[in-house]
Amino acid sequence: MKPIAQRISEIPSSATVGIADQAARMRQSGIDDIIDFSAGRAFESTPGYIVQAAISALNTGRTHQTMSTGTPEFRAACAQKLKRENGIEADPDREIIATSGVKQGLTLALLAVISPGDEVIIEDPCFVSYVPLILLSGGRPVPVALRSENNFRWSREQLERHVTPRTKAILFNSPHNPVGTVHSLEDLEIIRQIALKHDLFVITDEVYERVTWKGRHTCMAGLPEMRERTVTIMGLTKTFAMGGWRIGFALTPPGLMPAMTKLQQHLLTCACSFVQAGAAAAYGEAPPKEVLDLWREWEARCAWMTSGLDAIAGLKCPMPEGGFYGWLDISETGLTSAQAAQKLLDEQHVAVVPGSAFGAAGEGYLRITCVKSRKDLEQGVQRIRTALEP
Ligand code: PMP
Repeated sequence: MKPIAQRISEIPSSATVGIADQAARMRQSGIDDIIDFSAGRAFESTPGYIVQAAISALNTGRTHQTMSTGTPEFRAACAQKLKRENGIEADPDREIIATSGVKQGLTLALLAVISPGDEVIIEDPCFVSYVPLILLSGGRPVPVALRSENNFRWSREQLERHVTPRTKAILFNSPHNPVGTVHSLEDLEIIRQIALKHDLFVITDEVYERVTWKGRHTCMAGLPEMRERTVTIMGLTKTFAMGGWRIGFALTPPGLMPAMTKLQQHLLTCACSFVQAGAAAAYGEAPPKEVLDLWREWEARCAWMTSGLDAIAGLKCPMPEGGFYGWLDISETGLTSAQAAQKLLDEQHVAVVPGSAFGAAGEGYLRITCVKSRKDLEQGVQRIRTALEP
């Protein structure tokens, strides 16, 4: 038989899913005390009012394909949300496209922007799907390290050094998975200046924008002259505990909207109809008390877990500025991040993601999801202490 497509051998499989699979296999084999801090999902389920809106859409026959850009109702709710929470005026018909999650929005943006051989600057470490999605789009990922010495931020000189005549776009994530940085206005200004100087597209992954604990989330698209070159990708996966619904949206520059719409017509037809109805309920109004309480609880759990881990001798774990991961510095243990993650799984039945899964600059760290149940957090800290304390 002829070999399958070469592009498949060029992309790694998802390390986060790989660890979760290993933990699931252990559970299947009868080990029932696994604590899983690997997957980036909260303990809680989607709030009831969102579920009800989707059920009502199903019960009233909204079971057919929608426009490929999404239902007018969902896009209007996205525009309301952008105005209410991000200070951005958007035209729901000409600038917003519903996507099946943030990853799918990123796929549309990259396929619309990248020609073969184009370079895309990304953060190192970064979300595990960026490199594969850039490669699948025919582009070349150019990782630029986020170093602890610089508070996990890019400097202007560092970014400038990585721009070449082939650079087409900068893709970044704030609040950041896995390191927890929330880009300040000054951080955004560095990226903005470089994008304007070198005529680059900017793609922003803002999936954690509502779970910002320190500082303030600012949209790149809201800064002067950036709207026409920025694709803003947002989603409900994290903030409304809707990972299984697969829903988000992209705010696109008018020049890219027809390209992303054409791709959407062929790749997906449209985001799921009744899921858009649920998501419209979530975005259409300011978050109710139950959602605000949920976010406050997540902040408290992040603070509890990171301070517990930080107190273990030889380990460091600051409170993230945003997002819900602890970025645990294990460099003093003498183990690689893969060795430490394997040791935790084998000896303590604790699943975490090795930092190296997010890029070379992630070596020496483990990523730990902090929005699990309080019971899991308490037991988790004890087990991590047992395995990694000198
Ligand atoms: N971007 C980042 C930074 C993420 O952490 C995740 C989920 N782990 C995603 C995108 C994927 O989002 P979605 O599930 O909406 O595709």
